[in-house]
Amino acid sequence: MKIIPLSEGTFTIDKTKLFVPFDEDVHDLQQRPVGSLLVEIQPFVIITSKDILLLDTGLGFVCKDSFGEKEGRLQIHRNLTDAGINPSDITKVLLTHLHKDHAGGVSFGTNHEELSFPNALFYLQEKELSSAFEKGFPSFITGELEKLKKSKQVVLLKDDEGTIDDYIHYKITAAHSPYHQVFWIKENDKTIFFGGDDAPQLQQMKHRFVAKYDHDGKKAMELRRTWWEQGQQEKWTFLFYHDVKNPVKEF
Ligand SMILES: [Zn+2]
Repeated sequence: MKIIPLSEGTFTIDKTKLFVPFDEDVHDLQQRPVGSLLVEIQPFVIITSKDILLLDTGLGFVCKDSFGEKEGRLQIHRNLTDAGINPSDITKVLLTHLHKDHAGGVSFGTNHEELSFPNALFYLQEKELSSAFEKGFPSFITGELEKLKKSKQVVLLKDDEGTIDDYIHYKITAAHSPYHQVFWIKENDKTIFFGGDDAPQLQQMKHRFVAKYDHDGKKAMELRRTWWEQGQQEKWTFLFYHDVKNPVKEF
């Protein structure tokens, strides 16, 4: 399996929950708003013998009309093209949860009337979708998710745990958010683990840490410990969505 990280860069986020692009070369770390966090965003492509998988879809930001860039083009579309992949080549989109930094790229257009990957099936938890519409802004942008409610391309998973096409295993953890799911992708004796926001950064795997932003921070911490131990024994490859510097850790 081939793994391609699609970094969307680094952002600051504060209590307004707005993601603001952060450029280390231009901005001064000291100058960022008080209480703000630095967050890196990075979906992944995995090329398997059966599929071109996309794991989460990024912020859904559009490119600025500069340097000849076509205005209105999704950042994830540009990043895919740069990696030699046409967005229409994606066969499956696996969504851990629908927070706006993970699901922003599912749709595009003035009214988000198009799913961003025309030939893909989108796999998400049914309960996560209803919960996103109950909670709404600022953690979820329902306008971007509307299309997921009524498309033949969407597979709403009803079980807490299961398998897609015999090689992708999913499981609800209820740690970072109540219906957050994680994925194991297995082919030719290799296991790729994608823990989404339950396992967002390499550092968090190595140190015990309860995050305030989690639904059940203690559970997330325990899960990370279990996965880290099991992953080392079973030689998993970990993918870290919020770690641009350490996107992939292979054992
Ligand atoms: Zn999240």
